[in-house]
Amino acid sequence: MISNCEATGPLPTPSHPTAPCTATAAATHGNGRRTFLRTALAGSAALGAALTLGGAGQAVAAPSRPAGPGALDSAPAATTPNQALKRLVAGNNRWRAGTQQHPNESAARRVAAVSGQQPFALVLSCIDSRVPPELVFDQGLGDLMVIRSAGCVLDSAVIGSLKYGVLELGIPLLVTLGHQHCGAVKAAIQAEETGAQLPEHLDYLVDRIIPSIDHTTTGEAQVDATTNAFTRSVRDTLSAEVDIAPRVADGRIKVVSARYQLTTQRVHGLA
Ligand SMILES: [Zn+2]
Repeated sequence: MISNCEATGPLPTPSHPTAPCTATAAATHGNGRRTFLRTALAGSAALGAALTLGGAGQAVAAPSRPAGPGALDSAPAATTPNQALKRLVAGNNRWRAGTQQHPNESAARRVAAVSGQQPFALVLSCIDSRVPPELVFDQGLGDLMVIRSAGCVLDSAVIGSLKYGVLELGIPLLVTLGHQHCGAVKAAIQAEETGAQLPEHLDYLVDRIIPSIDHTTTGEAQVDATTNAFTRSVRDTLSAEVDIAPRVADGRIKVVSARYQLTTQRVHGLA
């Protein structure tokens, strides 16, 4: 039924959260998302401790990206959405051409990363093993904050994680990255067509994708069109979040949707 995304395992559902997400869900549904973010910054929650490796305060205060001997270790930090977009496009072009630089993997970079992080883009991508954002954008340690869920489906843990990157680390670019031959999208289309009863963990995913199904076409074209429509809807949902919308309006943040084409290795929608 779901060929690509199922093998990696289901997302936690509200009724069956995994241990790290319990803290997130409790914070989100209890005292609000700001409580979660403050908890994460304090490093007292398991998820918060993981996210604040090196200290978020240090990362925000850092004036520039740490330099090192790696390929792009001395590249200027991308501080605007358009600068970040250009870096992603350039990285994807290297990936497609087989001219990757594998930047920011040096020993010096690893040492520098201990004291803080300043990722220049946040990528929300599908969990599909064929679309690892660090590879398809040819980026290295500390360059990207990556959040993955089957089909890019949102839940409170995904949104909370995403807001941590955007609001607390000041990441200027957010990309919702779908892809060709997405198993989650195919499962949603098949579920709507057949009306078959799906296991609970798939129900949560496909129920959120089904409203975006494109009924003007069929086959792989329908999968692509639905993927585009759904990642755009995720983009719009995130752009409209009450604490993100003002930053989108004044240009501090750009939220874009994109699709990775397995056959060409190109990310469409960035430029
Ligand atoms: Zn997928």
